[in-house]
Amino acid sequence: MGVTGGISEMPQVTEGPGTADSEALATLHRVFGYEAFRGEQQAIIEHVVAGGDALVLMPTGGGKSLCYQIPALVRPGTGVVISPLIALMQDQVDALRALGVRAGFVNSTQDFDERRMVEAEFLAGELDLLYLAPERLRLDATQDLLSRGKISVFAIDEAHCVSQWGHDFRPDYLTLSLLGERWPDVPRIALTATATRATHEEITQRLNLPAARHFVASFDRPNIQYRIVPKADPKKQLLAFLREEHAGDAGIVYCLSRNSVERTAEFLTANGIEAVPYHAGLDAGTRAAHQSRFLREDGLVVVATIAFGMGIDKPDVRFVAHLDLPKSIEGYYQETGRAGRDGLPSTAWMAYGLNDVIQQRKLIQSGEGDEAFRRRAAAHLDAMLALCETAQCRRGQLLAYFGQDPDAAGCGNCDTCLTPPETWDGTIAAQKVLSTVVRLQRERGQKFGAIQIVDILLGKRTGKVIQFDHDQLSVFGIGQDLTEGEWRGAIRQLLAQGLLAVEGEYGTLGLTEASGSVLRREREVPLRKEPKKPAATRQRSAGASAGSGKAKAAAVELPDELLPAFEALRAWRAEQAREQGVPAYVIFHDATLREIVTRRPGSVRDLGTVNGVGEKKLATYGEGVLQVLASLDGAAPAAADDTPDADWPEPADEPEPDDWI
Ligand code: ADP
Ligand code: ZN
Repeated sequence: MGVTGGISEMPQVTEGPGTADSEALATLHRVFGYEAFRGEQQAIIEHVVAGGDALVLMPTGGGKSLCYQIPALVRPGTGVVISPLIALMQDQVDALRALGVRAGFVNSTQDFDERRMVEAEFLAGELDLLYLAPERLRLDATQDLLSRGKISVFAIDEAHCVSQWGHDFRPDYLTLSLLGERWPDVPRIALTATATRATHEEITQRLNLPAARHFVASFDRPNIQYRIVPKADPKKQLLAFLREEHAGDAGIVYCLSRNSVERTAEFLTANGIEAVPYHAGLDAGTRAAHQSRFLREDGLVVVATIAFGMGIDKPDVRFVAHLDLPKSIEGYYQETGRAGRDGLPSTAWMAYGLNDVIQQRKLIQSGEGDEAFRRRAAAHLDAMLALCETAQCRRGQLLAYFGQDPDAAGCGNCDTCLTPPETWDGTIAAQKVLSTVVRLQRERGQKFGAIQIVDILLGKRTGKVIQFDHDQLSVFGIGQDLTEGEWRGAIRQLLAQGLLAVEGEYGTLGLTEASGSVLRREREVPLRKEPKKPAATRQRSAGASAGSGKAKAAAVELPDELLPAFEALRAWRAEQAREQGVPAYVIFHDATLREIVTRRPGSVRDLGTVNGVGEKKLATYGEGVLQVLASLDGAAPAAADDTPDADWPEPADEPEPDDWI
């Protein structure tokens, strides 16, 4: 790897005939310290370097950033990156500067002088990359500024924000269609982790990218284990999951409401797990401080609404937990995709129950929007429910949703593959539920929710049953063959299958068009058995063994004898990070530290061949790393016990104003 050679001195490492790809590869080695491109990166970069427009669909963690950063470095001029993530721009720029890339940003968090300085750098041609919020681009002053400088490429990050149907819609993205008109010669690359065909088409059309080449990467994230468990006592289940499988790990817990975010964060903290809340109801300063802590500290849990997470590129998020049902598979996949960007084993865990279905169906019915909007929301929910209720491989179902062929044999790293669920013939149970609904309606003109239906089936004489004389119904007590949990599971599945409906603001149960065929015994209703105990615990290496066609996954666990060196390097890294006020992963990723302790480079030159060690980092940290390794070699074996704890930087206190919510 050419850690010392300049771009022009390295033609021998190239494979292709053109200079564009040789420069791209040389830049990958020299600046980023990576050995090879991943998946589609090379094709995308070559296309953009040659001046083509591109639409890039890659899952979170797939490696989108390089797809515009390298063209920006290789082509003359400054790459302009449009990103909605103002609160993260400082970190992104810091990370690039640590690589020796001349990067800057212009946004509302800066004062006049800071902004002027960046603008002057841009005009002088001294910036490789300039980050801009979309709302700035609308300003004439910004457009004039851009016209006076030289632009190498426009990168439109989080391009799905232009989609009016998505939950991340940003009206300012609509103005981005002007880029092509005003700068017809500058290539544009739009990137997103949202993958449905409808979204591709919307992005192409709204960003005015008719000639863009589409690059659709595999959406598989083999190192993430997907699990969906039946919800009983969600906070307790979460606590057990964290204690048993993710003690001390960083992760994100998603809840639907601000209230449950607050309560869950308090609950975790009271139980010894450090957790902070994040939602749009908190003031900007608190939100920024919590986000900053999450990025900078090790092992912090953020409990959040969907307001949190877009653009968070922390590589070592070990789990993403959902305590409430996401509204769509797109949302679920983006949120869970925030786990394991470093390729190490991670878990996407969700607790899901009957109330989730009722609540979401109610939300759609009582929510804003016209009939078309509701239909779309209902279709999204149906797909999400199908994922929750499937007895097949979850990953297979996810990939199929994104138009990709799943592995017919299953993935081996999701709950249904690890512990295949049993199914049972629920036809009679379904008839009992539906008959109860029919009788209440026909004989009494009443509608009730799931709780009352289950009480009637079980023959429970509760206050409400007696009050309404429901013990006089012929269906009273006909369901004593199943438990309450089983009835709730059956109702949930009937709702998910569209055989039962949720109605009105109270969420009462009613029939659907399909209900009749069950009542008339024209169809069978297979149901999934409610597992007695939660499915499979994590199998750490499962992702790694997932087969050849999959993306490179989990690194192997470190053997015990290498741990002291790893911990010593982490402690050293923490000190560097604290001194510079940047997240630890900006210095080196865990994966890079792992490779260093495994290979034990003896010289600066050797160290330069480690993945993730580029020219600038080698120059800045090379000696320091070698010193840490040397001090370990000199130490007596017993000293291993004294290895300093990986001590993490104090949270940086500067508030990062955050106006993107
Ligand atoms: P995305 O933006 O698609 O979510 P990133 O661009 O943040 O993904 O990349 C995810 C991780 O993979 C980052 O830590 C990045 O440094 C790493 N990465 C990307 N491309 C390569 C590569 N060619 N070789 C090694 N690591 C890579
Ligand atoms: Zn599977």
